[in-house]
Amino acid sequence: MIGYLCMCLQNNVFRPELNPMLNVKIFQFNPLQENTYLIFNEEQYCIIVDPGCYTDQERQQLLQFIASKALRPVLLVNTHCHLDHVFGNKFIHEQFGLELHIHECEQKVLDMAPTSGLMWNLPFDNYQGKLHFIDESLPLQLGNDRLEILFTPGHSPASISLYSHKDDLLIAGDVLFRESVGRTDLPGGNPDILSHSIRTKLYTLPDETIVYPGHGIPTTIGHEKHHNPFITV
Ligand SMILES: [Zn+2]
Repeated sequence: MIGYLCMCLQNNVFRPELNPMLNVKIFQFNPLQENTYLIFNEEQYCIIVDPGCYTDQERQQLLQFIASKALRPVLLVNTHCHLDHVFGNKFIHEQFGLELHIHECEQKVLDMAPTSGLMWNLPFDNYQGKLHFIDESLPLQLGNDRLEILFTPGHSPASISLYSHKDDLLIAGDVLFRESVGRTDLPGGNPDILSHSIRTKLYTLPDETIVYPGHGIPTTIGHEKHHNPFITV
């Protein structure tokens, strides 16, 4: 599995072999080692998911990649609003004028994030711009490409996952990790709801779907169905 992924990772840009339309760039940012994702297509339209950039160096790294590929950021999305996934929202808004898209029931988590930041000794300025609420009825459009929204609560009250059937990719936030799952002891977490989300929304996807988690390395739905010790089939 690791070999398979390594063969496909070129300069840390993953190109699904069967369909090169969507590219996924992974950054690991902030002391909580959160994965920030850029999803972009051949038209160079780009979605920024969970910008966790915390330091100036991380912010510049993100900007430099966007500039080097001449990407056109068109959407800013949080899978959920725990602090490590939202550190860079304000910066992205200031750089590109993008307004934040989240599920409506994550707003209270977003509002709480600066307080969590103080508790973790990671103070930051929260995004204060307009919020756009998204749900399963509103797929995200990226030029000619589309990402479906899957409602996958349990780690956080209204976590969403982003899915492209055409490209066999899933941005899973902190719902499903390689051989692990998101913690459920934070406010709004619930292990039964998390299990239900994974069984009904994620394990029902094709086995070959690449899962890009909020922490750690990518995996596949098929691998997790067979090897995840927390949610077994
Ligand atoms: Zn989280």
